[in-house]
Amino acid sequence: MKNLTREIVERIEKIAQPVKIMHVCGSHEHTIMQHGIRTLIPPEVEVVAGPGCPVCCVPSREVDEIMYLARQGVTITTFGDMLRVPGTNGCLADARAEGADVRIVYGVGNAVEIAKKLDNEVVFMAAGFETTAPTTASEVVSEPPENFSLLSCHRLIPPALKFLIESGEVNLNALIEPGHVSTIIGTQPYEVFSEKYGIPQVVTGFNPFDVLIAIYLILKQIKEENPHVQNEYKRAVRAEGNVKAQELMDEVFYIKSREWRGFPSIPDSVYEIRDTYSQFNAREKFDIPELESKEVVTGCICGPILRGVARPEDCKLFRDECNPVNPVGACMVSKEGTCNIAYRYGSLK
Ligand code: SF4
Repeated sequence: MKNLTREIVERIEKIAQPVKIMHVCGSHEHTIMQHGIRTLIPPEVEVVAGPGCPVCCVPSREVDEIMYLARQGVTITTFGDMLRVPGTNGCLADARAEGADVRIVYGVGNAVEIAKKLDNEVVFMAAGFETTAPTTASEVVSEPPENFSLLSCHRLIPPALKFLIESGEVNLNALIEPGHVSTIIGTQPYEVFSEKYGIPQVVTGFNPFDVLIAIYLILKQIKEENPHVQNEYKRAVRAEGNVKAQELMDEVFYIKSREWRGFPSIPDSVYEIRDTYSQFNAREKFDIPELESKEVVTGCICGPILRGVARPEDCKLFRDECNPVNPVGACMVSKEGTCNIAYRYGSLK
């Protein structure tokens, strides 16, 4: 293993040049930090984390919506990570402390089971990228009970990439594409970024060799002036993706524009439930009002971190005031959050 690592690193060193490579996956950031990958590669090869944590990307508005429902007496079900993601006036953990019925589940299936056992209305806060949206869709088409509905907070990765490339704020030169998301959407949605913007891209898996090989392949594309989408994760990702899952998502969701945490409204970047299934759309069912939402100013720089223009170490609150026990911002709450990962693995590099 050591020899293989050395060989890949040596190949990287031979063709290294100044480049900023963005990845958009909490699992990739985890691998990079756990294995010290930023310390293995030449400093001019910069690997930055983008909006790779789906829980972190949920904006205050969506937390406010679920808080509104919790305070109306609706039973809320959600992933444990969501409990402490801040909205404009607190988080779901606060609502639970006030007496609201907020329950942690491992997935939408558990939420449906809870609804079957209760007379009360049950809402599942469905956060996640294209990876988890098919599971949500499959419950919607499986005739869940009438007292069950969803607050869709599902988001799409390619529109966020397009936004980041076009904004120019992060000046990214290349992309490591997320393995999990790509198992569903395939490689085709990324092609435009190479064709239109000349961005080299590699879809890769989650072990340290996958990440190192992706870095090498990107540098090779740059050296050969041949930007394209390369699939290093063929053991899981097909060019066309998972067509059945795509059809299921298309049956249940349509795509619309909405803001992400740290981003303004990103065009065509979220999944919302189609009218055909509006009885399962909590926004329709409960007529949630337009809420005066805002990101609360606490000194937290989750926004720039999610856009890849800051690191946790740039935040004055990192470690002492903000840590996994007392998280101030969304990026410290979730185990996929860049701040949480940086806290656990220790340093910038
Ligand atoms: S360390 Fe905490 S306060 Fe600072 S950016 Fe990260 S989550 Fe926000």
